[in-house]
Amino acid sequence: MTNSTTPLLPEMAEIWQQTLNWQPTTQQQTQFQQLYELILEGNSQLNLTRITAPQEFWEKHLWDSLRGTLLNNQFIASLQTGASVIDIGTGAGFPGVPVGMIAPNSTITLLDSTRKKIAFIDKVLTTLELSNCKTLVGRVEEIGQQTQHRQTYDLALIRAVGTASECAEYSLPLIKKGGLAVIYRGTWTEEETTVLKNAVKQLGGEIAAIEQFTTPLTNSIRHCLYLRKIASTPPQFPRAVGVPHQKPL
Ligand code: SAM
Repeated sequence: MTNSTTPLLPEMAEIWQQTLNWQPTTQQQTQFQQLYELILEGNSQLNLTRITAPQEFWEKHLWDSLRGTLLNNQFIASLQTGASVIDIGTGAGFPGVPVGMIAPNSTITLLDSTRKKIAFIDKVLTTLELSNCKTLVGRVEEIGQQTQHRQTYDLALIRAVGTASECAEYSLPLIKKGGLAVIYRGTWTEEETTVLKNAVKQLGGEIAAIEQFTTPLTNSIRHCLYLRKIASTPPQFPRAVGVPHQKPL
């Protein structure tokens, strides 16, 4: 798989330590490298990601994926003890695959509507020997109405799948009462908080926290929105395929 021209990912030991108070083990470092190489290779057949330069890949895919699982400067506790996690619209495996690597006691379901992307992730999981991760093909609007998935997850992760209200409608029906949804965003405004609050309330949730941070290499602004489920989601949510996008709450 490796060829001599493939640049190695930077290790960034100090930055991991300073920003997440964590460092990858040698095995995790190898898995990051394998993931990077598989994505470069997969990109020749599938449009997986435009982020391919080593430092950019490290910051925007690896670091950013893991930063979202930090709340109040600590990894979300249930991840360490063993959570049931779903990554909605995982694409090439972000944020779910890096999260699966650092949380071996948790089970990560990687959901995407594109079968080819899921076939690619299946290959990644086999190569990286990530037995705590599994894949699921489907539209989240349908998965969220299925009893085997609805209100069964402790944690939902969702990055770059739609507006915040759309992401709230996709994620909150899937999590248990007391569970968390993490919506990864770039910029964020107070006005957006007002709109999101209204959507989240209809879905049985509340905004538990909004964290702003800067990425460690390019100092770009990022936000993560942490939604807590406090009541059952009414049965009409998520609405039919396409409706959350066309008519956001
Ligand atoms: N989360 C990844 C990331 O941040 O790199 C991928 C983001 S990509 C822009 C959006 C992904 O969400 C695509 O792979 C797409 O197939 C998937 N997706 C979009 N709408 C979806 C839906 N309703 N149900 C399931 N997957 C969906």
